[in-house]
Amino acid sequence: MEKAGSLKNSEENNEKAIGKNEKDNEIISGKEESEGFRIFKKAIIVFVSIFLMFLFLSYFLLGNNIFDILASRSSSFTASNGRIIFGGGTITFQEEAYQNLLEIYNENQQHEFKACLMGYKSGKNYFVEKIEAPKIISQDFSSVRAEPCREGTIIDLHSHPYKSCYLSVHDLTTLKYVKAANKDAFLGVMCEPDRFNFYGYD
Ligand SMILES: [Zn+2]
Repeated sequence: MEKAGSLKNSEENNEKAIGKNEKDNEIISGKEESEGFRIFKKAIIVFVSIFLMFLFLSYFLLGNNIFDILASRSSSFTASNGRIIFGGGTITFQEEAYQNLLEIYNENQQHEFKACLMGYKSGKNYFVEKIEAPKIISQDFSSVRAEPCREGTIIDLHSHPYKSCYLSVHDLTTLKYVKAANKDAFLGVMCEPDRFNFYGYD
């Protein structure tokens, strides 16, 4: 009786143990299946959160400029050794002219400036021989008003806030006047010491 009872008990225990093991196995395999998926889900959530945080912060820190910055990166041109290769051909600065432009750029970090790049066009190539600074009427961080450039100007250039090389609506109006004065001339925007954007070239 005692024996049978203990046998029965141990059988029950065995059954329980087997049942428990099966359950454990289920849990383990269930865990294993979902573990990879959970890590994947977590990674996606983290990635999306970081991306949203980036957009959110950049909006508050830089305002809409972040979109201008992204856009300008894809459509602007860099100068190296006083030479710019752009959509319309090449622009070659005489060494002194580029140095002069850099000096003006460095002196006008707190507001926009305008500069008249004097020179000529030869085929698809533009040559800048000297820089003239027109009389400034008003200027602040994100705008400049100046007298028109003189005859002989090939690029009517002004600066924009750092890394913001996108043309403004106001710039489009300026471009019309530049073209009316000289059909070969076009508009330039300088947004870094060696980064430019150009509009209105052939
Ligand atoms: Zn502008």
